[in-house]
Amino acid sequence: MLSQRQLFLNHLAQTTDFPLLLEVERAEGVYLFGPHGKKYIDLISGISVSNVGHRHPKVLQAIQEQLDKYLHVMVYGEVVQAPQVKLAARLSEILPKQLSVSYFVNSGSEAVEGAMKLAKRYTHRSKILSCINGYHGSTQGSLSLNGSEEFKRAFRPLLPGIGHIEFGNINDLDFIDDSVAAVVIETVQGEAGVRMADEMYFRKLRERCTTTGTLLVFDEIQAGFGRTGKFWAFEHYNVVPDILVCAKGMGGGMPMGAFISSPEIMNSLRSNPILGHITTFGGHPVCCAASLATIDIILEENLLSQVEEKSALFHQLLVHPAIHSVRSKGLLMAVEFESFPVLKSVIDKCIENGLLTDWFLFCNNSMRIAPPLTITLQEIKEACEIILNSIAALKM
Ligand code: PMP
Repeated sequence: MLSQRQLFLNHLAQTTDFPLLLEVERAEGVYLFGPHGKKYIDLISGISVSNVGHRHPKVLQAIQEQLDKYLHVMVYGEVVQAPQVKLAARLSEILPKQLSVSYFVNSGSEAVEGAMKLAKRYTHRSKILSCINGYHGSTQGSLSLNGSEEFKRAFRPLLPGIGHIEFGNINDLDFIDDSVAAVVIETVQGEAGVRMADEMYFRKLRERCTTTGTLLVFDEIQAGFGRTGKFWAFEHYNVVPDILVCAKGMGGGMPMGAFISSPEIMNSLRSNPILGHITTFGGHPVCCAASLATIDIILEENLLSQVEEKSALFHQLLVHPAIHSVRSKGLLMAVEFESFPVLKSVIDKCIENGLLTDWFLFCNNSMRIAPPLTITLQEIKEACEIILNSIAALKM
């Protein structure tokens, strides 16, 4: 009989020649469990998804309660479903006043697609700017926004009218003019390897967009839902976007995304044509219930206020000559090594030693650290010990 791994290789579409091939049987809190009880600290949360930990009891309870009522009943936007309504209302409570209307989708890429369409529809413009080394998804529209030609070349032609500016460079804001529908930008660049811009930059960006009538779209798919120590990363910069996109951590482990805007902007999806954006499964009741529980957990368990201390402990412990630098915004962290081969050896050793981590799409010499926000100080100590031991095992 073929092994699970072999069946995976034979029957699941492969997208790399070196998949992790870790077998998971169960997950709980910050841990993944493989066959024979092998235990791994999950330091990447399924790529910034399990912010409240794996299988948080309140998420499971919310899912269970919804399972007993109904699953899918109708396509998006027609039927009043309590989980959707409660989630949308709750989101508007924890967002600035103008961001009061949500459109629910199933993934980050879809949320970005929706935001792009909305901006085009509202402004009657077609140009969209994003940032060099930005990551916004893998569908053709969101891929067009990505700031790495390497990942796009083979799929061209992509969307026309897309331009790229340098993240954090105030001079490049001059490229935003009244022909531009939207600037789509991460509040913290994730896949670029955790790159930050300062408050002044975001303020100037906001000003420039307001002056030119360009919609400012913040992609908080990776940085949102508490990852950086504020519920929304844009709160660090005191700047409010016209459209916010979120996903990943939003569903507490369920597939969930949203683009969120003002009633005025969102209303442009209602006419000319009607049904300006359509989804069958977007806002699935079970996912919405899980998302609502996730918001409650983040706020009730005071996870936000612990992020800085936890991040600081990683900084304090991850000191080694092989570590060149540690960049972070809260618990979105990048540990930089000399090169990909060095990092890859450390990562392989970490996995062997019971810790899961990886690197970034556009930054392959930096280790990703984005654990569940529920990670304890003791678990951070254990994780850092494994990382340091794995570095020590390298033949350098
Ligand atoms: N935007 C950002 C900032 C992301 O990090 C990601 C996923 N890594 C996406 C968009 C796309 O999300 P998804 O993979 O759910 O389509």
